[in-house]
Amino acid sequence: TKPSVFKNEPFTDFTVEANKVAMEKALEKVKGKLGGTYPISIGSETIDTGDYIVSINPGSKDDVIGRVSKGTTALAEQAMQQALTTFEMWKNVSPAERADYLFKAADLMRQRKYEFSAMLVYEVGKNWAEADADTAEAIDFMEFYAREMLRLSKTHINQPLTPVDGEKTRMAYIPLGVGVIISPFNFPLAIMAGTTVAAIVSGNTVILKPADSAPVIAAKFVELMKEVGLPEGVLNFVPGDGIEVGEYLVEHPKTRFVSFTGSREVGCRIYERASKVQSGQIWLKRVIAEMGGKDGIVVDETADLDAAADGIVAAAFGFQGQKCSAGSRAIIVESVYDEVVEKVVERTKKLSIGLPEENHAVGPVIDQKAYNKILSYIETGKGEGTLLTGGGPAEGNGFYIEPTVFGDVSPQARIMKEEIFGPVLAMAKAADWKEAIEIYNDTDYGLTGGFFSRDENRISTALNEMHCGNLYINKKCTGALVGVHPFGGFNMSGTDSKAGGYDYLLLFTQGKMTARKI
Ligand code: NAP
Repeated sequence: TKPSVFKNEPFTDFTVEANKVAMEKALEKVKGKLGGTYPISIGSETIDTGDYIVSINPGSKDDVIGRVSKGTTALAEQAMQQALTTFEMWKNVSPAERADYLFKAADLMRQRKYEFSAMLVYEVGKNWAEADADTAEAIDFMEFYAREMLRLSKTHINQPLTPVDGEKTRMAYIPLGVGVIISPFNFPLAIMAGTTVAAIVSGNTVILKPADSAPVIAAKFVELMKEVGLPEGVLNFVPGDGIEVGEYLVEHPKTRFVSFTGSREVGCRIYERASKVQSGQIWLKRVIAEMGGKDGIVVDETADLDAAADGIVAAAFGFQGQKCSAGSRAIIVESVYDEVVEKVVERTKKLSIGLPEENHAVGPVIDQKAYNKILSYIETGKGEGTLLTGGGPAEGNGFYIEPTVFGDVSPQARIMKEEIFGPVLAMAKAADWKEAIEIYNDTDYGLTGGFFSRDENRISTALNEMHCGNLYINKKCTGALVGVHPFGGFNMSGTDSKAGGYDYLLLFTQGKMTARKI
């Protein structure tokens, strides 16, 4: 029996010898199985197309993680037909039964936690703690959304409707139809699995297109869902090109909703393409688009400066800054600016760089394209601020970049405005805490923010004024927990869907009200 309240999956403490050994064993075991081939999965069919997306280890470029069959437009169409047919069955499966598949999958992933984390270490270059947190979050999403579906399925019993004499009313949340799930590389387990299971448990069937640079972990998740007996055709897996597979499905007249997480550029394009009503389409598509960030941490002169520096460094360089929540800006009040900068630089210099399997603090960025883009931003930064540490490639047979800090950056500089998605921190000086908040808000984005202060009045102003979806006081701005910190941003950070929150599943349902005369 399940505990009655949701509890987050605990993070693994790798200073405990037994846990360290378990992780080393899992890394060994997974290493022995690298290089496998993974099929497309549509209904009961698994298809080897002979044309593969080759996933490599970004920390050791010559190592192949796996070859995943590449989808085509024809296969995307086949998946759509399958998902449409299966929807007619799945929408009538009880919420309790649907939730049960998620509970089982969460249990199975818990048993294989170290192996899933090891695969993340190899495929996307996460260190142990980052990989462990990704796996824990995937487990949380399954556990949380399963419980949420059960709760929603009972809301009609204690319904929030105004009673009226002579009528029996009811509000039920029914599924939408076929959804297209398009996921990013940076939480290739948690976000991929979370967005998929949220749609499924709500009664929809889906076509999942994972990110090109992390398709193997997605294939592993699809295998897990098969293992727990999820009926064939509910989850159809079609990796492939963003345009050929992704855009084809976004534009498909039978697509009822798109759940996208990724960059602003692609998110805006999907939003636009999905808005066009195609011939034969009888609904307006729902689009959930969670996009980028230019998140920042504000520090005033009353703050605990050591805690602030710890928070700034963790938020800027965790997973090499490849988090939508990464604190890529730090805005510091003038009177403590030098001191905070010194602490930040000192801590940054101590970060070890190297192979993720050896558990260094900083590993590689995801691929050649990201590597080139980040290095080019670093060059831009050299003209926009003072380079304080880092500033170029780091050693290794992978996409390693030094954690880089720029000081005295103007609020209008490109490195203060544009999402770099790499280990680059821009620090700016503000005359006082109010100006610091103004600088923080001067962005197109609005995902996460942090405010370090000991002054209650300022904290209450910051809580009001800092315009972002996830605001943290005296804490780093990364590391949202399912159920605890519902996650999603404002403005160009997306549609603020609040993943891991208590209204998330409503996005994958439509409310049907019935009133019966009695
Ligand atoms: P991305 O380049 O936008 O890719 C995301 C997904 O979209 C991938 O599966 C990609 O496929 C697909 N895609 C690309 N072009 C497409 C098109 N025209 N139509 C349909 N699908 C298309 O993002 P990423 O580099 O993987 O992820 C990093 C970005 O995600 C950052 O901007 C980060 O801030 C954001 N992010 C946001 C959140 C949030 O909750 N707000 C969470 C995580 C990440 P291919 O891989 O095949 O190109």
